[in-house]
Amino acid sequence: MTTHEPGLYIHVPFCRGKCPYCDFYSFRADAAFKARYTDLIIKNIIEEQTGKGLTFRTVYFGGGTPSQLGAQNLCRVLDVIQKTPHAEVTVECNPSDLCEEWTQAQLDALVKHGANRISMGMQSAVEQERKALGRRAGKQQVEQAVAMVKAAGVTDFSLDVMLGIPFQTPETVRQSVAFCAESGATHLSAYLLKIEQGTPFEKVEKTLNLPDEDECCELYLTACEEAEKNGFHQYEISNFAKPGRASRHNLIYWNDEEYIGIGPAAHSFFSGKRYYNTADAEHYHAVPDGDGGSFEEYAMLRLRLTEGLTEQGTKERFGFALPAKVRQAAAPFAAQGLLISDEAGVRLNPRGFLVSNTIIAALLS
Ligand code: SF4
Repeated sequence: MTTHEPGLYIHVPFCRGKCPYCDFYSFRADAAFKARYTDLIIKNIIEEQTGKGLTFRTVYFGGGTPSQLGAQNLCRVLDVIQKTPHAEVTVECNPSDLCEEWTQAQLDALVKHGANRISMGMQSAVEQERKALGRRAGKQQVEQAVAMVKAAGVTDFSLDVMLGIPFQTPETVRQSVAFCAESGATHLSAYLLKIEQGTPFEKVEKTLNLPDEDECCELYLTACEEAEKNGFHQYEISNFAKPGRASRHNLIYWNDEEYIGIGPAAHSFFSGKRYYNTADAEHYHAVPDGDGGSFEEYAMLRLRLTEGLTEQGTKERFGFALPAKVRQAAAPFAAQGLLISDEAGVRLNPRGFLVSNTIIAALLS
């Protein structure tokens, strides 16, 4: 399916320091490196949009920490992007960058140049948990960053909450979700911490006071329940939004639609082909990653959404009804109360999302 109005992802691989649980491609860079990197991605964006004749319906600066690129460089990038009139333009920002390195005027300028959605990595509203994660910003700084975002006129902002972290209990999850609601956030992402190989957390895992598997399940279900209570409706395994405020960019991924990735380690899906950029900030290049767009791939992505795999969507996209084998494989999970299989389609519920890998593999085997 070719829309010619794909999403645009721009990777910013810079971070002020390295969080002890993170294995993303990111590092510290000086002003000259950031300026050169900005020139490089501007060149690549222009090549992509001119070469393919594209106008983007969503733009997402992810990382790393996009706020580390600085307001001026971000505005330079925004100025060259061809966007549809109501494009969603998200910039991930670190709350402590906004408070310590940015001025209100710089944030205002970012909005003036087209940013209309900010996503901030809060991780927890509880100080003990934030410290255990090595986050620089305290809760007060998160509040200050939220105030700056609002003062810039951004009404659409998201906060991240991490689950399964040291010292966390259902009560502290409730506190973090309540903080998001009280701050006026329109979107909430809640991810389970995964201990990645080679990270400092992996080396000291046993000493971290981490919740066990059953406790993690309880924390996730608490987050789902509390988000719902506070008016954030779950639309994906880890994502919750006020009505009409789901991330349009991320929905492109889960609907298996087209997007272009710029920068090292960024992925793309365009004209039925997948490719990814090598993880080298100065000399990255695209590597083919096979064909995309099969029913299996679409189903796997759609089953992450609370809407699930629908009869209507499948018919519109592939011209056939949901395969009988998917329905048959869904039946035992439906009996266990992990998903719903009805005339609209097949969709997992929060308990099903906890074992989504197993269920999705079984439905598509
Ligand atoms: S700020 Fe984000 S990308 Fe950077 S090190 Fe921390 S978790 Fe990783």
